[in-house]
Formats: sequence, structure tokens, C-alpha cells
Amino acid sequence: MHQPMFSLEVFPPKRDAPVGTIYDTLDGLQGMHPDFISVTYGHGTHADRTATARIANTIRKEYRIPTVAHLTALYSDEAKVDEALEMFEHAGVDAVLALRGDYIEGETPVGVFEHAIDLVRYIRARKPELKVFGACYPEGHYQAASLDQDIDYLKAKVDAGATHLISQLFYDNEDFYRFLDKARAAGIDVPIEAGIMPINGAKSLRSMAAKNNTVVPPAVEALLEKWGSDVPTLREAGINYASTQITDLVAHGVDGVHLYTMNRPATTRRIWRNVRPLFTKTEE
Ligand code: FAD
Repeated sequence: MHQPMFSLEVFPPKRDAPVGTIYDTLDGLQGMHPDFISVTYGHGTHADRTATARIANTIRKEYRIPTVAHLTALYSDEAKVDEALEMFEHAGVDAVLALRGDYIEGETPVGVFEHAIDLVRYIRARKPELKVFGACYPEGHYQAASLDQDIDYLKAKVDAGATHLISQLFYDNEDFYRFLDKARAAGIDVPIEAGIMPINGAKSLRSMAAKNNTVVPPAVEALLEKWGSDVPTLREAGINYASTQITDLVAHGVDGVHLYTMNRPATTRRIWRNVRPLFTKTEE
């Protein structure tokens, strides 16, 4: 029987956060047996470029879970990418999620890697033993002229060597199914994981949706309106919403589900408890 993947995403804690923060997160995620945990990469002049590798190292060596390290293109040159790849190698990273990154106001991109595809090609040539993943957008990337054009560029990214795709968050599964049909019709035949972000708060959801051009469907809008100022209840509703979304995705036979944990293990665990029978590998 088709076995969907189940993966998690964490981010490195802020520099001024207490040292134990990431352990609290990772301890809280224990026992879920994800296929991998991916670690985001902060870019731009002020980013701590070692944080992703350090957290990946902890996940791999102390928690014995496969890790995927994110890496961004716009504000890096070859030397910086080489440095990151060395750190990832020492951390026992299995794959790199090659991303363009977003433009940061007031900071000029280096000009070496313009799109994620440039980074995919570079990593493939530099470290052929590393798997390279890419991002995809069920509703189209916010800068794309159309979903079809975005998918054409996605196909090129896959042809350049991305062997696995992880999607941007979305709240309407129909958008994901439509995207999947188009991607398959375009000849994209690598696994595509559906990215799910639980509702954590009305303000954060609305700003994230606005930034990414993510549609907030009426069912989510109703939750925000009813419990927007009652965060605990909204989060409960969000856990149910995410669990229902995942159940429907697995019923439709998706390749996998990537849960954005937002470093909130309690919420992640609640969702996982609801859906774990769907992922037979995960057991308490
Ligand atoms: P690309 O694939 O380069 O696409 C960006 C835009 O350019 C799209 O509109 C695309 O249609 C277009 N395009 C692509 N190729 C070409 C081409 N050859 N010519 C012309 N146009 C082209 N950001 C971080 O800073 N750190 C992270 O850790 C991080 N993790 C993420 C994880 C996931 C799963 C996702 C979905 C996003 C993540 N992001 C992260 C955000 C990401 O960096 C932004 O969404 C960024 O705007 C686009 O990155 P990309 O890799 O998809 O870019």
C-alpha cells in the first residue's frame, strides 16, 4: 500500500533565545518518527549562517533523525554556499532544500545565484552525493505571472536536479489538488509533499497569507472571525482544521505531508495524535 511521508520543519531559535529552546522543541517532537526534520535558513546580512547546520547536527547526532537543511541563494556567493555545504556534511545532513530566499528591503543580493535553480545546479555539481530538494507553490509563487508559468519554472528546477518538492502552506486542499494535476501534466514526477501550517493566531495568519498570496477560504475566515481574539480556542480549532486537511490529503493519496511546527511541539503533537494512524510508521 502507498505509504505517505511525514516530515516536520523547525527553525533555529533567535540568537538571544535561551540555549535550551531548541531542545525543548526537539524533545517535544520525540516519538513521532518523521521521515526527516528540516531546518530553515535565515539569510541576509544579519543572519547567523551557522545556525542551520548546528541544529541539523543536533537533530541528526543526538536525536538520530534524518535532516534536511534549507539554504538560500540570493545573499550568498559560491564561497558562502561551499562553507554551508561543508557544515551540512559534518552535521550528517541527508539533503539540502535549495531556495532562492526573499528579497530583503535595503539589502542588495550578491548577484551570483538569482533563482533557486542556480543553487540546485551548483549543489548538484559540487556535492553530487547530496540530495537536493526544492520548494513549490500550490497557488503559484507570489511573484509569478501565473500558476502555469510558475510550474514551467518548477519543471526546469526538477530537470536541473531537484528530486523532491515541499509545498508552501495552503488552506484549501482543492488548490493543492489542482496544482498537483498541473504539475504531473507538466511532467514533474518527483515526490511532492503538502506543506501544512496550523493556525496559530489571526494576525499572523493574515499577514502570512497576504505576503504569500495564500487564499484564506471561508471555512478558515469563519474561525478567525469567531475566535480571532480568543487565541487558545482558535488554536484548538486550528488543530482540528489541520488534522482534517491532512486526513483528506492522505485519502487523496498525496506523496507526503510536511508539517510546519513553528517550534510549537505541543500543537504538532496534538495534530500528529489525530493523524498518526494514516502514517503507519509513526507510533508512540
Ligand atoms: P524560485 O524557485 O527561484 O522561484 C522564485 C520566483 O522566480 C517564482 O515566481 C518563479 O516562478 C520564478 N522563477 C523561477 N525560476 C526562474 C527563472 N529561471 N527565470 C525567471 N523566473 C524564475 N526562505 C528562507 O529565507 N529560508 C528558508 O529556510 C525557507 N524555507 C522555505 C521552505 C519552503 C517549503 C518554502 C515553500 C519556502 C521557504 N522559504 C524560505 C521561502 C522562499 O525562499 C521564498 O518563497 C522565495 O520567494 C522563493 O523561493 P524559491 O526557492 O521557491 O524560488
